[in-house]
Amino acid sequence: MSQSIKVTGMILSAVPIGEYDKRIVILTKEKGKISAFAKGARRQNSPLMGVTNPFSFGEFELYEGRTSHNVLQAHISNYFMEFSTDYEGAYYGFYFMEIADYYTREYNDEKQMLKLLYQSMRALASGKINRELVRYIFELKALVIEGESPEVFRCANCGVNDRKMLFSSQNHGIICEECKGIAPDGIWVSDSTAYTLQYIVASSIEKLYTFAVSDEVLEQLRRIMKQYMDTHVDKRFKSLEILEMCLK
Ligand SMILES: [Zn+2]
Repeated sequence: MSQSIKVTGMILSAVPIGEYDKRIVILTKEKGKISAFAKGARRQNSPLMGVTNPFSFGEFELYEGRTSHNVLQAHISNYFMEFSTDYEGAYYGFYFMEIADYYTREYNDEKQMLKLLYQSMRALASGKINRELVRYIFELKALVIEGESPEVFRCANCGVNDRKMLFSSQNHGIICEECKGIAPDGIWVSDSTAYTLQYIVASSIEKLYTFAVSDEVLEQLRRIMKQYMDTHVDKRFKSLEILEMCLK
């Protein structure tokens, strides 16, 4: 028997279907990533019109049909309206949504990714933290949640943790000075950058967005995350190309 269910989550994407409808993808606490049909959501007077846009976070009541979900109603607690006038913030947001969409699965436990996504959107919206830093924190923590974290606490080759370090994507993490021969792609890492990487990997999601970094650390994070994502994430993100064009 079909019935209605309530889920809490965030809309990752919305695409128009036919003349008046939409299909939305929601990352939920209860059911992982699900897609749902929002009938009539593009009609001017539809109650679903304002509550089925990307970034909206809240509670959704869905009718669980045999082959798909249908949105009955939604109570949005955060629309992230800031991004309707702040295009740069919106481009970062769409990139985060695409990464979350890429990593998550239907009916899988995606609570951690949802929490990371929500906190990262709040950090973007607050404007208190450098957005480029928010991006690298989000990228790295998403990898940690997916079990793809680089080794950042000790040399990935010999295990020591008290020598000068390089970051090497080929070796999945930091490599010490003695072992640098195996890391032709090595990027020198200052102590502050090593500490920043360790903090992001080990910290709870709630405490991720509580620090600032120097320009030198940001520059190292930029090189490290670009190299690591290029090496270990197969997908090219369309929204990242758009973001990078907009930042030029
Ligand atoms: Zn070593």
